[in-house]
Amino acid sequence: MKFRSEQAFLNAVVDLARMSGWLVHHDREKQNVQGHAGFPDLVLVGKGRVLFRELKMSDKVRVQGAQSAWAGALINNHGDWETWRPGDWNDIVEILTGRRPVAEVVARDGVSEYVR
Ligand SMILES: [Mg+2]
Repeated sequence: MKFRSEQAFLNAVVDLARMSGWLVHHDREKQNVQGHAGFPDLVLVGKGRVLFRELKMSDKVRVQGAQSAWAGALINNHGDWETWRPGDWNDIVEILTGRRPVAEVVARDGVSEYVR
């Protein structure tokens, strides 16, 4: 799936999640947030899961710095953290619509092993 921008990708994920019954949170203004920087783009709650998802527009863009610290902390504390990219769209649809169970522990970008 192609998207013109990360905002367009985000909008598509948020719309699909809401239509599929997930409770959705995204902070538009990262500058106005209290606490540690680098929090994932999306928190999705539903279907017996709490998902933390960092959206990236390209396979070449890696999670690093503060975002990587959040990823590691979430995974090490049993959080379900993963990056989603436009190329993951078919997986995203299957997960959000409940056609496929979400993995128990998932991580990419070298933060942890990918377990499906
Ligand atoms: Mg992002």
